[in-house]
Amino acid sequence: MTAATITALERRAACLAAGNPVYADLIAIHLPLFRAQILWRRQVDVAPATISARDWACARETATPLRQRLSSGIAARSLERLWRALDSLVREHRLPFVDVLDAAARAEARGDFVPREWLATLRPDDEGDEVAKCAAVLGVAPDALNTLARTVLLPHWHRVAAAWWPGSGSVRAAGGRCPVCGGVAILASCRAVGGTPASSTSATPTRWLHCGFCDTAWAPSALACPACGSSAAGDARYFFCPGTEGPRLDFCGACRAYLKVIPADGAADSFPVALEALVTLHLDPVALDRGLVTLRDYLATADATRQMHPRRSPAAVVCAKGKAGRTAGDSPEEMS
Ligand SMILES: [Zn+2]
Ligand SMILES: [Zn+2]
Repeated sequence: MTAATITALERRAACLAAGNPVYADLIAIHLPLFRAQILWRRQVDVAPATISARDWACARETATPLRQRLSSGIAARSLERLWRALDSLVREHRLPFVDVLDAAARAEARGDFVPREWLATLRPDDEGDEVAKCAAVLGVAPDALNTLARTVLLPHWHRVAAAWWPGSGSVRAAGGRCPVCGGVAILASCRAVGGTPASSTSATPTRWLHCGFCDTAWAPSALACPACGSSAAGDARYFFCPGTEGPRLDFCGACRAYLKVIPADGAADSFPVALEALVTLHLDPVALDRGLVTLRDYLATADATRQMHPRRSPAAVVCAKGKAGRTAGDSPEEMS
């Protein structure tokens, strides 16, 4: 399975690099990291808490991330070991993260940075605050530090997710947050033939959301927006970027949250999420120019609103023109 997953990753990377010359260098830089993430999945030391039928039911009905109810059992020494392995990998391939690792090593020697302790504090839903704080201490770019941290964390969380979420998305969890770790979906994949948006009335889920923190794929309700929950006729919309093939942008007419949707033929659990996210970065400015917001930004605002006004619907505050606050209805609809 590992070899097949790596082969699929490399084929897809070669195809994307050929079709997107602008991204060829970025793909070349990140491919060793993506490959290592797959190899390391079998080498990490985790002992996740056993999941019960009650935990399953809760995850299905309330979408409370399992991480909030169960211990992941990720061993600190395993985080430490992978951090050292990452250091070797970056230096061996001369990847442009050497400066970050040098700064981390100097801080470690001063006693200002303990990799295993810092990595253990990172959460998928902290919106990058912990990474930004550490980057300031180290004097490095937050994005580069984030890439390294995710490279170490993903194999651990992938193993946790595999223990808690067997069958990769066989349960339809609600919403845009990962049912395992609580991270926001960074992409969606669509298994409809020819890239044609699937009917939301289909019995088989065709749109899967993907978590970039733990690699879980799940199928949310086909009828409701993964951000605000609207299922009103005409709210589920999409467009293709002019002059490009492939990625579709799905968005909600009520809350304006969008998701990039990648056509995919393979199984949901072999979808190269990080690679696809890397080569679709140019689509985000297109979406923002249309007045759309990322799912992450929408949910972060909704969470903050919920904390300030716990009795109000977050969508009612965030969304404009009174279209929000609707709850998922029963009438099926096609994407408009
Ligand atoms: Zn996750
Ligand atoms: Zn919405």
